[in-house]
Amino acid sequence: APLVEMAEVGKSYGNVQALRGVNLSVYPGEVTCVLGDNGAGKSTLIKIMAGLHEHTEGTFSVHGISRNLSSPRAAQGLGIATVYQDLALAPLMSVWRNFFMGNELRKGLFLDKDTMRRVADEELQKMGIEIGDLDRPVGGLSGGQKQCIAIARAIYFGAKVIILDEPTAALGVKQSGVVLKYIAAARDAGLGVVFITHNPHHAYLVGNHFVVLKLGRVSMDAHRSEVTLEQ
Ligand code: ADP
Ligand code: ADP
Repeated sequence: APLVEMAEVGKSYGNVQALRGVNLSVYPGEVTCVLGDNGAGKSTLIKIMAGLHEHTEGTFSVHGISRNLSSPRAAQGLGIATVYQDLALAPLMSVWRNFFMGNELRKGLFLDKDTMRRVADEELQKMGIEIGDLDRPVGGLSGGQKQCIAIARAIYFGAKVIILDEPTAALGVKQSGVVLKYIAAARDAGLGVVFITHNPHHAYLVGNHFVVLKLGRVSMDAHRSEVTLEQ
């Protein structure tokens, strides 16, 4: 069963119709790639999933129950986490503190420093992320490492669906590789990943399912077996 399902979803901002008739399902253990030009509706789509905007038409379901999420907290409570390009990491704080930042009181957690450092280390290692010294400020890490930390943090705090907004857009080839490898690891760990990207090659490397938006509508919807990457 899909974790998240959109059926004929539409969204208008006043008289601007940003999305219409969108059908899209996010399954566990799959990367659903969403591609499309600027203005196609990608941000609007993820904002509906993330609880930042309410849809105006159709049905949005989480675990089979129709919802109209009214806040990011509501989305988070249902296991939907969004990792934005700007990441919300505090550059001057250590890796381990960033890992727990804003989450100390969730899951009944109230851990001492040593435990937080150890748990952060275990969680990052479990998913194959090489960080080294966790006392280092996050600001000194590579863009790829930062993306991976933000994703690992969301997973540890209960996300079942991870929405990634252009996670490789600001990265070079090597750092993009780090993040793509990590997306594949999250997929293989059973998460449902929504991967927004402009890069068809990146989509093809990790994707199970490809959805292209054009002027707010789905213009292509294909499973991996149905596509080849044309250069
Ligand atoms: P993308 O992320 O693919 O660039 P968006 O979802 O940001 O696309 O935008 C889709 C359409 O909706 C665009 O025409 C955009 O100008 C419009 N739009 C997005 N947000 C708003 C808003 N808050 N108010 C009015 N129009 C908006
Ligand atoms: P993003 O693509 O990350 O949403 P943008 O710069 O496109 O970033 O948009 C920033 C904010 O402005 C968003 O909240 C978006 O919904 C809103 N927005 C985008 N396009 C329009 C528009 N045409 N009119 C009004 N608000 C808009």
